[in-house]
Amino acid sequence: MPVENLIIIGSGCAGWTAAIYASRANLNPLVVTGAQAGGLLTTTTIIENYPGFPDGIDGSELMIRMQDQAKRFGARVRYLSTVEKVDLKHSPFQLTVDGELLEAKAIIIATGASPKRLVVPGEADLENKGITFCATCDGALPIFRNQPLVVVGGGDSACEEAIYLTRFASVVHLIHRRDQLRASRVMIERVVSNPKIKLHLDTAILEMLDVTKGHVSGVKLLELKTGRQHVLDCAGIFVAIGHVPNTHLFEGQLDINEAGYLLLHEGSKTKVPGVFGAGDCADHVYRQAVTAAGMGCAAAIDAERYLATIES
Ligand code: NAP
Repeated sequence: MPVENLIIIGSGCAGWTAAIYASRANLNPLVVTGAQAGGLLTTTTIIENYPGFPDGIDGSELMIRMQDQAKRFGARVRYLSTVEKVDLKHSPFQLTVDGELLEAKAIIIATGASPKRLVVPGEADLENKGITFCATCDGALPIFRNQPLVVVGGGDSACEEAIYLTRFASVVHLIHRRDQLRASRVMIERVVSNPKIKLHLDTAILEMLDVTKGHVSGVKLLELKTGRQHVLDCAGIFVAIGHVPNTHLFEGQLDINEAGYLLLHEGSKTKVPGVFGAGDCADHVYRQAVTAAGMGCAAAIDAERYLATIES
């Protein structure tokens, strides 16, 4: 089995950008895409703040363009493959990918983040039975058409999902636990001025209903300022309360903070020489497509320099 120069784990903005830079540098990288090729951006609507696209660009299209760019320079891709295990103690590093053992001199971790669960009664039982974590993936389903829908969260994702769902829903209830949204001003303005969105501030979800029916029929709400509880009827619940970094694979081998983010130093370096991190798995501050791309670029340059050092 030949030892790979560089394995890039993950295929979001960070992973593909790392692949573009590494392949242009003739490192012949191998990208292991993970179960969701293209990462979280494939689940968003139009991206309006990625430079170079004044009219915005669809998230999936941006990911396909990045992938094509990486492949044009020779990046190899293992689609829908998942890294199940890594051993970073010895060089070359060992990775188990879909049961197969691979070896690599350097690794870029660009594993991104996954949607956070609310963890309230009913949520686990009703997942995919009216509860979803992606409006763009599921919003157009017939069960949600012309129905009241609920979105949970107060950030840009929740606002974006609420606005998107107004295309299909009779009304969108945006439920947030605080007295103000934390989303960007432009998103808040769009939410507030949309007549199909009803904002419920200072409100928590106590339970998702109705497990006995086997599908979503409503949410039990708690108005935090008054203590009043009531049930709001809805056909769908879209949870958009942030993400958790996908770093469990590296627990015990790399430094990871309490929230699960990979800790980096001097740019993209982890504590293991030859292992680099990029994107949402390591960025708890900016978490933007363009910053993830920038981190992917930095990781590829650092990997290139590392490989030059061990080979000289
Ligand atoms: P976020 O900014 O972390 O917001 C998460 C929201 O969910 C917060 O309002 C938080 O409430 C709430 N929340 C978290 N845990 C909760 C719980 N257990 N119960 C109830 N509510 C809970 O996450 P995000 O909206 O996914 O955004 C992540 C990053 O991506 C941000 O940097 C954002 O700007 C960016 N983003 C940008 C765009 C865009 O520019 N178009 C679109 C999407 C995302 P609190 O406010 O109380 O903490």
